[in-house]
Amino acid sequence: MANAFPKKPASPTHAVPVRYTEKTPTTQAYIPEIIKGIGVSMSHFLRNTKEMLTGQRPDPVTESLDIGITTLQYPEQKRPYPQRFRGLHRLTAREDGSPRCVACLCCSTACPAQCIFIEAGEYPEGDKRRGYERFPVKFVIDELRCIFCGYCVEACPCDAIRMDTGKHPVPYDSRDQFIYTKNMLMGVTGRDGTRETRNPRHEPGDPGHPGIDRLHSH
Ligand code: SF4
Ligand code: SF4
Repeated sequence: MANAFPKKPASPTHAVPVRYTEKTPTTQAYIPEIIKGIGVSMSHFLRNTKEMLTGQRPDPVTESLDIGITTLQYPEQKRPYPQRFRGLHRLTAREDGSPRCVACLCCSTACPAQCIFIEAGEYPEGDKRRGYERFPVKFVIDELRCIFCGYCVEACPCDAIRMDTGKHPVPYDSRDQFIYTKNMLMGVTGRDGTRETRNPRHEPGDPGHPGIDRLHSH
C-alpha cells in the first residue's frame, strides 16, 4: 500500500538529525536511568532539607530558579509578587475616610468581564460635593469573574480603584464569597498598608481646586 503520509524531504536549513540511543540490554532494562533519576531527586531533597534546617533557604524567586528548586511550603512561605502584580482590588479613601470613587461608571464600562456593579447616589443636602459629584451607594466586584486585566484601574479618572494590594483572593468554598462589596473593598489596604493613594486630590472648595463646582463653573 502506498504510504499515505510520505515523509517530507528534510529542509537543508532547519533539519536537525535525531540521534537515537542504541538499544542494548542495559538501555532496555532502564535500570541505570532509573538510578540516575533517583540520584537527581535525592540530591534536590537533601539540599532542600539542609537549607531548611540551617535556615539558608534562598529567596524562591530570585535565587532558587538557578538550581531548579521552586517548591514553596505554602501558605507558610509565600512567593513574593512583583511590584506590578495585579492583585485583589481595593477602593481608595480620602482623608475623611469616604471613598474617592465618584461613581462615574468608567471602570464598569471598561470591564470586559462585566463583573463590576455600581449603584450611584447623591451626597446629602448641604454637602459641598452634592451636585458636583456622586458616590457609590453600592460597589460590587465579582472576583471570580474578574480576569485581572487592570482595565478598571486604567479607566478610573480619580485613582479610586487600585490593584496594588499584593494579595490574591483566598480560596473560598462558595461563589458568594468571591463577591466583594464596597465595605470589603474599602477595607483592603495597599502594599504600604494605607487606604489612601499618593496621588493628590483637590476637593471642591480647596483654594487650589482646579476644577468646577456649582459656584465656579466654566
Ligand atoms: S481587572 Fe479587568 S476584569 Fe477585573 S474588574 Fe477590572 S476591568 Fe474587570
Ligand atoms: S472606581 Fe473610578 S472609574 Fe469606577 S466608578 Fe469610581 S471613580 Fe469611576
